[in-house]
Amino acid sequence: MTAFGLLIDYEYCSGCQSCEVSCKEEHGYPVGKWGIRVMDDGPWEIEPGHMNWNKVPIPTDLCDLCAGRTAKGREPACVHHCLADVMKYGPVAELAAFMEEKPKQVLFVPQYKPYEARGAFVSARKDDASRRRAAAMEVDANAQVEFATHRDDSDVRNVEELSEQ
Ligand code: SF4
Ligand code: SF4
Repeated sequence: MTAFGLLIDYEYCSGCQSCEVSCKEEHGYPVGKWGIRVMDDGPWEIEPGHMNWNKVPIPTDLCDLCAGRTAKGREPACVHHCLADVMKYGPVAELAAFMEEKPKQVLFVPQYKPYEARGAFVSARKDDASRRRAAAMEVDANAQVEFATHRDDSDVRNVEELSEQ
């Protein structure tokens, strides 16, 4: 099966967050849940007059690569709405070729975890105070996690279907 992904040229990402908003709108994700986040590296001074400040969008585990849209030949919502036109969607092999053209690009192949299984996020180490600050989070054990394969309609499941299980 061909793997698909997102290529982001973060040299020209403006940090406008249109990708975040369009993804939430497309999927109906509520406050606090995201399909992509724009991370902020900076600003900090490398040397006088030279600042480091990168905006790097990172797909989360709720990114399904817009399976519902791409199955119909449409581009993902984030790609479509990126104001700086710095996002590409496609087969990983094709996207990887773009990475040879210039630096400051990232290629993501998200691993989607269907939404209902992710309802209650709890710390994996909630009973261990010394490790409570660990960034690792796990999905509530009561929920079943299934992994979707992109571009395969049989795996495209929406929130309503899953919530009925
Ligand atoms: S590809 Fe779709 S699901 Fe993934 S971050 Fe972009 S808009 Fe969200
Ligand atoms: S929509 Fe495009 S320019 Fe705006 S934050 Fe996302 S990747 Fe960057």
